[in-house]
Amino acid sequence: MTTYKIAVIAGDGIGKEVMAEALRVMEVLQQYDADFKLQLEEFPWSSDYYLEHGEIMPKDGLDQLKKFDAILFGAIGDARVPDEVTIWELIMPIRKQFKQYVNFRPVKSLKGIGSPLKNGKDIDFVIFRENAEGEYSNSGGRMFEGQADEMAVQNTIMTRKGIENITRAAAQYAVAHGKQKVTSATKSNAVIHTLKLWDEHVKQVLAEEFPDLQLESNYIDALVAYFVERPQSFEVVVASNLFGDILSDLGSSLVGGLGLSPSANINPEKDYPSMFEPVHGSAPDIAGRGIANPIAQIWSAALMLSHLGRPDLAEKIVLAIEHVLLDGEVRTKDIGGSASTTEMGDAIIEKINAQMSL
Ligand code: NAD
Ligand code: MN
Repeated sequence: MTTYKIAVIAGDGIGKEVMAEALRVMEVLQQYDADFKLQLEEFPWSSDYYLEHGEIMPKDGLDQLKKFDAILFGAIGDARVPDEVTIWELIMPIRKQFKQYVNFRPVKSLKGIGSPLKNGKDIDFVIFRENAEGEYSNSGGRMFEGQADEMAVQNTIMTRKGIENITRAAAQYAVAHGKQKVTSATKSNAVIHTLKLWDEHVKQVLAEEFPDLQLESNYIDALVAYFVERPQSFEVVVASNLFGDILSDLGSSLVGGLGLSPSANINPEKDYPSMFEPVHGSAPDIAGRGIANPIAQIWSAALMLSHLGRPDLAEKIVLAIEHVLLDGEVRTKDIGGSASTTEMGDAIIEKINAQMSL
């Protein structure tokens, strides 16, 4: 029997609500496979935890997480706690310390979900967002606060290694999945030093290590338009931290919205655990009402199972999600229905049960 140790951090707001459903789904899968066992440990690290303890995770939090095979994360964010705490003292340290420099975000039309585009043909590509450096750095600061000369400086940090790593990860995925093309998001025409470096090393890695892959390099302002005009033309998109964040929210809206969009923060070397979480945040506007869509969280759990070496189980989950959406009877509010979070979880579990008894 293979036992996987999973750290579960549900976080704030709807994070808690959608996580409950993902855990139920994984519980069900274990019943059908004697060789598959998850040992879950839940960590209460959240804004409530911060307000009670004065820190969002204990000093040895990362050491505690290190021994797990993977981390399943919900969402974090609360109006009572500054983002500097929730983002910079919880999510960022995990991503950075555990060298999760790949943020993998599939943009895939699910059966039964319409498209906001006139050209409603199926979309199926993936975004590799650089996840450890770039525009999201804590280098810089504010000066002359409250004065007329008030200003802020934000330093973007890109390294040759960082660019090579994310490019290699994207290209390896492309090769492994029979893709022909990698699209790079840039803005080097604006003489931004970091993006000049980006262009050079994306190009070099592809030319030297993946000569069979085609490189398409697009300026970010044009690329967002292409996402809308010809989303079917993309296969693998590689982008810096900020560009990748923006592109993936746009990508998400092309295929049904945040309630359906999973992501993986991957440490390709596997010397630290990887972390799996929906693209969405804690959604304070709907939290506590039991109406959040749990699909993004459940699909994120599927990405985790795939990463742990069980793509067969991941596929069962995605198939079950698609069956529910195709039936069309059970839908949460964000995708045009009135089902609750739990009802959506129930419906997906029912489809998994049906697949297993075939
Ligand atoms: P959000 O993703 O929480 O919500 C954006 C919109 O999408 C809201 O209208 C929300 O109701 C809706 N939505 C999101 N997920 C949904 C779901 N599963 N089902 C149905 N509707 C859903 O983004 P926001 O409102 O900009 O941010 C809220 C908080 O979350 C902030 O504190 C922000 O910093 C944080 N945040 C955290 C993460 C993370 O944990 N990685 C990511 C993004 C935002
Ligand atoms: Mn985002």
